[in-house]
Amino acid sequence: LFVEHPLGEAQPVPLTREQAHYLFGVMRQGVGAEVRLFNSRDGEWRARVTEAGKRGGLLTVEDRTAPLRVPPDLWLLFAPIKKARTDFIVEKAVEMGAARIMPVQTDFTNSERIRQDRLQAHAVEAAEQCGGTFVPEVCELQKLSTLLAGWPADRQLMFCDEAEADGEAGSSALGGVLAGGPWAILIGPEGGFSEAERARLRDMAQSHVVQLGPRILRADTAAVAALTLWQLRLGD
Ligand code: SAM
Repeated sequence: LFVEHPLGEAQPVPLTREQAHYLFGVMRQGVGAEVRLFNSRDGEWRARVTEAGKRGGLLTVEDRTAPLRVPPDLWLLFAPIKKARTDFIVEKAVEMGAARIMPVQTDFTNSERIRQDRLQAHAVEAAEQCGGTFVPEVCELQKLSTLLAGWPADRQLMFCDEAEADGEAGSSALGGVLAGGPWAILIGPEGGFSEAERARLRDMAQSHVVQLGPRILRADTAAVAALTLWQLRLGD
């Protein structure tokens, strides 16, 4: 269970109403039950339910069961698509070990707004489900052009583009790149990237154009494929 609270021996941790509903209502747990807690800072801790109520509850922390595992410094930039598919991208990005999830508005982005709080809650659920000890931050929607204008000199960018005639197949394109250092993956919207964006991205020294095979993938499939490829070549 993800909590905001600091975790340490004998630490009392109050439960939110939603957590109490999940633990005691859905999972049918009660006083004495063991629960694993993490907060993105202190690793994973064993705790025990000491008070259980309909609107809340209390856990008492016992001992640490795993150290903090922070994923490699990988950002996933993607143009939000339909709600369910955007949720899917966030969930898979957490499972695949992205450290930061960044929705971006591109020239052909289909949605102009996102519910950042909803997506962050999805990220928490995904981290809980996959036994993570860290929840990546889901950022507010920002313009791709603004982000590129201030792009960090040392962060490499895996620019996924099916229309890049000169783009090498994914594995060989990344093969020549030195491992290590911070990275980002960029996935476009349903309509792909505009010519202006392509030109801008091709000109960036940190950008590496990558094709993910000969077929056009849906953006959510492309995100999973790109994360898999990155983890295979450069992940730990
Ligand atoms: N422009 C395309 C069209 O309308 O025919 C479709 C774009 S695709 C659905 C969405 C995004 O997924 C692309 O912008 C790209 O980032 C990524 N993508 C899909 N297939 C890809 C491939 N074969 N190689 C690299 N990226 C791909």
